Amino acid sequence: MSFKQINEQCYYYESSVNVGYVQLGSSGVLIDAGIDASSVKKILKELKNRELPLTHLFITHAHADHYGGASYIQERYDVYTMAPSFEEAILRNPSLEPLYLFGGNDPLDELKNKFLQGPPMKVDQIVEEGSINIGGKSLQTVCLPGHSYYQLALLVDGILYAADSYFSLATLKKHKIPFLTDAKLAIESLHKLLEMDLLGAVPGHGTFEENPIRTIEGNIRYHEGLMEWLFQYVSSVEEGVSHEEAVAQMCNHFGVSCGRLSQWLLQRTAVTAYIIGLKKNQRLADRIVHNRWVLKAHDE
Ligand SMILES: [Zn+2]
Repeated sequence: MSFKQINEQCYYYESSVNVGYVQLGSSGVLIDAGIDASSVKKILKELKNRELPLTHLFITHAHADHYGGASYIQERYDVYTMAPSFEEAILRNPSLEPLYLFGGNDPLDELKNKFLQGPPMKVDQIVEEGSINIGGKSLQTVCLPGHSYYQLALLVDGILYAADSYFSLATLKKHKIPFLTDAKLAIESLHKLLEMDLLGAVPGHGTFEENPIRTIEGNIRYHEGLMEWLFQYVSSVEEGVSHEEAVAQMCNHFGVSCGRLSQWLLQRTAVTAYIIGLKKNQRLADRIVHNRWVLKAHDE
């Protein structure tokens, strides 16, 4: 864990979840807020030691590891908080996350943990793709869905704070089946990144790279590889595969073991994201058969 300087104005705190920081004259914006108070305390200490101002907070998406520390900051600093459209509703009502992961049922107590649900925070400005103004400077926001419904990355003079639009290749290997909400959209977002003229990028999990193209291409190949495995598996079963069976088989094949219900719910969403990708690419069809959601390969 260390506070790293990218250029004159751009920094990031490298940790298991990265937090960005940009100084803009007498203003300063923190990009995401870590998972909890203890992680954000270290970042606030670094800012203080370097006499860097903190006036704004920008949250990229409503996952607890990216916003869990936000309420701690808001209680102690007068920060103007910006968050993406849609995601902001979850940031203000964090119990929505265990609720949606649990399929809309009232979440069991074990699902109300800090990995699924951070403390509620306030949002001063709802942001769409386009630009925001901080300290008299216009910064570009880039919508990169697929990992979260309306994830926004922040572009500052060629440096992209990319949120979870891509992961380091080590992070992908560690997670085995990374969390996505829609694999087709995730891959489209990765292609959008490849078309950007970047001087460097910081992913949410991983390290800053001046040229992240190989890592981004590696992400595309990784997602396509998982999607292809799932397609081949479903194709190999003539009568089709139930959703539940697809989740179990894919997790088993890639060595994911879910010890807790919360982990299984996250993996179920991740596997379903690849199913959605295949369905949108018209490679899989789906039907309800004997009260099961059953997937079948499209006839060639
Ligand atoms: Zn995330």
